[in-house]
Amino acid sequence: MNTRSLSFRLVAWYAGLLTLVFVLLGAVTFAVVANDLESNVRANQMRRAQQIADTLLRGVDRSGEAALAASVEKLYAPAANDRFIRITRGDGHVVFRSGEPRDRGFDPAAVPPPALGSVESERVEPWREVRLPGGAGLLIAAVPHRAASGTLYTVEVGASIAPVETALARLLTVLAVGLPIAVLLAAAGGVFLVKRSLEPVERIARKAEAITQHSLSERLPVASTGDELERLSISLNHMISRLEEAVHGSKRLVADASHELRTPLTVLRGELESLTADPQLTPRLRETLGSLLEEVERLAAVVDGLLALSRLDAGEARSEWVKFDLAQLVATTSDQMSLLAEDKGITIGCEAPRGVVVTGDRARLKQVVVNLLDNAIKYTPNGGAVRLRVARGEGQAVLEVSDTGIGIPREALPHVFERFFRVERSRTREQGGAGLGLSIVKAICTAHGALVEVESTAEQGSRFRIRLPLAGPEPERPVQPQRAAATGER
Ligand code: ADP
Repeated sequence: MNTRSLSFRLVAWYAGLLTLVFVLLGAVTFAVVANDLESNVRANQMRRAQQIADTLLRGVDRSGEAALAASVEKLYAPAANDRFIRITRGDGHVVFRSGEPRDRGFDPAAVPPPALGSVESERVEPWREVRLPGGAGLLIAAVPHRAASGTLYTVEVGASIAPVETALARLLTVLAVGLPIAVLLAAAGGVFLVKRSLEPVERIARKAEAITQHSLSERLPVASTGDELERLSISLNHMISRLEEAVHGSKRLVADASHELRTPLTVLRGELESLTADPQLTPRLRETLGSLLEEVERLAAVVDGLLALSRLDAGEARSEWVKFDLAQLVATTSDQMSLLAEDKGITIGCEAPRGVVVTGDRARLKQVVVNLLDNAIKYTPNGGAVRLRVARGEGQAVLEVSDTGIGIPREALPHVFERFFRVERSRTREQGGAGLGLSIVKAICTAHGALVEVESTAEQGSRFRIRLPLAGPEPERPVQPQRAAATGER
């Protein structure tokens, strides 16, 4: 799970906020319910104590304390109603005290008297909560009453707070179990919603990753939802259009420039060649003209390379595509270039059993063989060996060009197919390379749906391998994504 993803962070925030809100709501509910329940018990006890004082104690002078006790017992039956009632005279004598309640929830004899001196002075606390030794709690309301004779009585009426505590404990359990479940359910809903609303983003990202400089004509999917994502995908599509125009513009510029440069360079070369032929030239001038000619030829090669690359980039028409035997092409090319190798004392071995039929542009694929062979000869010292091999394998034609040359350093391997890349500028400059040969190889391979790989060990040699689809019944094949693997050392 990616904890930095937008969906994870959204759900985490959402679940966090929800937990906070639920906990606050639970706490407020608990406090309100607890307060209500306790107030209710208090109000009931207070009302009863006041009733006893107002009705029964009013006539105590007349009827006597014994009759008062009997009336309280008769009218309120405190033991039967699990209630505590005590009437205390101002001198501390207890006139009436209820018996043990039916549920034995508390012991009335153990209830301590009101605060010291309060029954004598009418300043009794209206409320108190008493915890009895067994753990039972009582809420006791106390009302003072002075009879006409002047005798002071204190009426106390209490009830157990156990039912309130039980109800609150139950509420707490419901909240403790219910809140996490509610948060989990809401978070699950949140995950679903977030995933659903971010799905178009996933689709846009997948498509955007698949768009390369060769597929700039493709566009991102636009969901007509009218939301920010629709706007984003439309804006990105506009950006891709502008990018496409810019890339096309620069490709056109390179193509036009190299095309325009070709004619003057040809003229220049012709002029220089005819000048060199003049027998009256001084040796110094001849040497200068010779090196000028070399530079012009190098320039012409670069311009030709650029033109070839820009044509390949533009995606050449496949009208030139034919079925032909790659092995035969390789063998002929190897023969044609053997002179070049002989000059350096390099032996060329060619293992190309006929019948490896592929479909493609013959001239372009020949260019691939020429470029690879040319490099192999160029970067192999005198007396070395170059080997060409063509074989069939799993629906593919495999072409290998290996040499016993100077090799390519490991750090340069991933870059050899880049345009104008040369391993050591000085070493190839002398040999006339501009760093375009392998990029042309790769561009041709890409256009043919072929894969090109290189393995090399510095000072030991290199091996370039091309895997080209064998010709099928249909001459047309989809062009595969551009890939050039530079695998490790041999
Ligand atoms: P260049 O025209 O300079 O040869 P390439 O694109 O053909 O350019 O090759 C790029 C670089 O890769 C070269 O500069 C060279 O250093 C290296 N290279 C290519 N082929 C070989 C090889 N067979 N052996 C050693 N180095 C090679």
